[in-house]
Amino acid sequence: MRRNILMFGPPGSGKGTQAVRIAERHELAHVSTGDMLREAMAAGTDLGLQVKAIVERGDLVTDDLMLGLVKERLAQPDAAQGFLLDGFPRTVAQAEGLMELLGAENKALDLVILLDVADDELVKRALARGRTDDTEETIRHRLDVYRQQTEPVLATLDGKVEIGRVPGIGAIDEITQRIERVLDAEDSAQG
Ligand code: AMP
Repeated sequence: MRRNILMFGPPGSGKGTQAVRIAERHELAHVSTGDMLREAMAAGTDLGLQVKAIVERGDLVTDDLMLGLVKERLAQPDAAQGFLLDGFPRTVAQAEGLMELLGAENKALDLVILLDVADDELVKRALARGRTDDTEETIRHRLDVYRQQTEPVLATLDGKVEIGRVPGIGAIDEITQRIERVLDAEDSAQG
């Protein structure tokens, strides 16, 4: 199967959950920039302190910082066998930086899996989780950031990378199966 995959979708689409499953099954390095930032914040590193306020507001950390983090992560040995990006790239500049850094190492992004979920459903889910920082206002703000800054990444990648669109509603297992079918279809298309 194709080895370098991007899991793409709005906040609350379940991309983190699906990314963990797909990465485990196919032995891909799961690269979640959200997890990396949360770990840094929990450990109180310089990076963690630097990004805390931004993350808590639901805004985006700078492109340079994120590209540096991802570059370092992808240089680790486990990523050589294939990786699954989750939460990165989130801006057009990050996408361009990623393509450049992969190109420099003769690597490529093979497939984008787009988890499709409507805004109202995303807000409903986030409120149901009941986290105290998940007020309707912050949730809507994260969605606005996604639509304005992150969704344009798809247009940047279109024509360069295969994009598989998967409805992100229904049972978690069902959605995993849909993703697996996209991966299978990609495989047979590749020959
Ligand atoms: P996530 O768990 O992917 O939703 O990420 C949680 C938060 O971390 C986001 O709301 C952003 O503040 C920050 N973050 C994660 N990934 C990125 C990225 N690629 N670029 C900028 N900020 C990010």
